[in-house]
Amino acid sequence: MRLLIITFSMLVIAAGVHAQPRESSVPGGIKIIELDGERAPEVRFQGQRVLVARSAQGWRAIVGLPLALAPGRYSVEIDRARVVHSESFEVTDKRYPVQRLTIPDQRKVDPAPSDLERIRREQRIIAEAKQRWTSIADVDLDFVLPADGPLSSRFGLARVLNGKPRAPHSGLDLAVPIGTPIRSTAAGVVSVTDDFFFNGKTVFVDHGQGLISMYCHLDAITVKPGERIARGGAIGRSGMTGRVTGPHLHWSVFLNGALVDPELFVPPRPGS
Ligand code: ZN
Repeated sequence: MRLLIITFSMLVIAAGVHAQPRESSVPGGIKIIELDGERAPEVRFQGQRVLVARSAQGWRAIVGLPLALAPGRYSVEIDRARVVHSESFEVTDKRYPVQRLTIPDQRKVDPAPSDLERIRREQRIIAEAKQRWTSIADVDLDFVLPADGPLSSRFGLARVLNGKPRAPHSGLDLAVPIGTPIRSTAAGVVSVTDDFFFNGKTVFVDHGQGLISMYCHLDAITVKPGERIARGGAIGRSGMTGRVTGPHLHWSVFLNGALVDPELFVPPRPGS
């Protein structure tokens, strides 16, 4: 059996096919649609270009499903040399657990009127960074974890901060002490570095075709926008800047503009 597994994984590597991401057709998850054809088709979901990667059969569209999506039937538009057809799929419900947290700095839960202009300006920068589209034929889908440390908060938790309902948890938290080296989860180009009100010191890495990763609450950033980075390349050190309860790394993944569960991009952890 073990031999068979090795043989299969060698075949997968030889064909340039990726084991990740895993499919999970739920809000905040990923739908994978196998497609044939000589050339990569152009795929759109809700008006957004979708990542298309090589597969054993030909191609696979890797569709990010927004967390706010209602369960039901959806479709993608597949454009092959201007011949467009649609393919539908089901998104099933997922109930994410509730997480109640106490933020020591109340102003990070109820910002002062003077903070609002800064927050709106930063929201525009983030909205632009997550919508970026870079045409790269072979997107690096073999993610590594951005830091070595225990997982503390999972993606999608419905959050109540200081007793008030707030946006759900948009990434994965790793509990790492201040100063822990943080690495890029995959090859890409640094698109934005900034110091945000909520996210603290933050790095965005553009992996191509609408796949973007974001690393927040850093203590130090050691890369600059435009810098090319290898998978596992150093981008900074973890910290506790922005809205936090303590030191940790917050890692988010955007796919066709949607925040999706980063755990789908890494091999399942034992016991998870
Ligand atoms: Zn987080």
